[in-house]
Amino acid sequence: MGFTDKTINELINTQFECSCGRTHIANIENIAIGPGAIEKLPEFLETQKLADGRIFDKNKDLIFIVSDVNTEKAAGADVTKRLEAGGFKIAKYVLPHPQMHSEEQFVDEINDHLPEEVQLLIAVGSGSVNDMTRFVSFKKGVPYYIVGTAPSMDGYASNVSPIVHNNLKITYPAHCAAAIIGDTDYLATAPMHMIAAGLGDVLGKYLAISDWKLSQIINGEYCCPEVCELVLYSVEKCVATIDDLKARDPQALTYLIESLVLIGIAMSFIGNSRPASSSEHHISHFLEMKAIQSGEYGELHGTDVGMATCMIGQMYDEFLENGIDYDKAREHAKAFDHDTWVSEIKRCFGPGATEVIKLYETARQNDSDEVLRRITAIEANEDAVLDQIRSVRQDLAKCPVLLEELGGLTDPSSYPFSAGEMTDIITYAKDLRNRYGTLQVFYDLGVLEPLAADTADRYMKK
Ligand SMILES: [Zn+2]
Ligand SMILES: [Zn+2]
Repeated sequence: MGFTDKTINELINTQFECSCGRTHIANIENIAIGPGAIEKLPEFLETQKLADGRIFDKNKDLIFIVSDVNTEKAAGADVTKRLEAGGFKIAKYVLPHPQMHSEEQFVDEINDHLPEEVQLLIAVGSGSVNDMTRFVSFKKGVPYYIVGTAPSMDGYASNVSPIVHNNLKITYPAHCAAAIIGDTDYLATAPMHMIAAGLGDVLGKYLAISDWKLSQIINGEYCCPEVCELVLYSVEKCVATIDDLKARDPQALTYLIESLVLIGIAMSFIGNSRPASSSEHHISHFLEMKAIQSGEYGELHGTDVGMATCMIGQMYDEFLENGIDYDKAREHAKAFDHDTWVSEIKRCFGPGATEVIKLYETARQNDSDEVLRRITAIEANEDAVLDQIRSVRQDLAKCPVLLEELGGLTDPSSYPFSAGEMTDIITYAKDLRNRYGTLQVFYDLGVLEPLAADTADRYMKK
């Protein structure tokens, strides 16, 4: 088999019996990417199956378009005009906020404007607008489409919605978009820092895939080689066209948005975010949490991911230079004290600590027995572990160079944190999710704290 010779439309709505022993499927009905992709919208709508089993009827069924002040300018107004000209019945709401997180109050705002008889929603946007419209349409029990306005993140094909409630981000189950439209004529108008953010989220896949492979070696975790190959293949296509991306060339933008959508398909294939998200995302989640708690907007998700990917690349340099001391690692593992850890988590996560402490009950990531077992596994498979690390290190070394091409962030020096705070972020980010990755490998080998402190000292003001 092999997914890399298939087009993006051949990968959706088809069941694949994979060489990994599992069956993979992504339930997205339609995808259109490229120049003029928006012209496909009427065709998608007129064949769209509705919640009650009927096919969408443009003379009868109401569409509700959600955008914000920026995405309305970039695409919303044009989409509205096209649908009106095509004789579709539409209602719409433009969120009047120039910057927003996906937040409960804005979800309520959309719901307040949602007509009772609506049959389909269209999200015009990328981040928050998309997350909130997905959630609202899911609750309403009607399908939704995305018209992308920026190639800035990998959540296009996602089936969950993160929503901030009382300064905490909660991820709610939702559904996938029925159709995804990535028209490069709209995407080309996105600010360069959003395009750089998209590249950052894509480059993070080098580490996410490597961490998945490491966990297979160390923990025997299931890992699909075909999905790994598909994800890395789409990353390389973006990397190869970086100069054109800088010039907003439609083909390069097509590769970037395709890659971001493909990563969503890879997540659907596996049933969770394993192929797309590991230590680099744990750091980005922590950075985002900090921003939300302090009432700031922070950096874009993909900007955080790209920066964290570069930073972990640097940490690998130091790690490889120092080598592994298994005796020290075992001493460090035995010295773990749960009560001390709990007070550290409370200090670092503030109101978010409760959930992190609760997660420990299932993850038990730092329990001495578990860590000692993993140290033994690393020692027994040292060649394979180090080969994987050396290989990803080469990929990670490319990331700062590529991001700099687009003016993206490659280190944390511009973030509003002291060296101490940055040390905490790197040290405790892994405890936010139950997923084995590089930061936990560093912890297991007893070097996470010093690597975090060195990294923070290198970049942050005292
Ligand atoms: Zn597979
Ligand atoms: Zn991401």
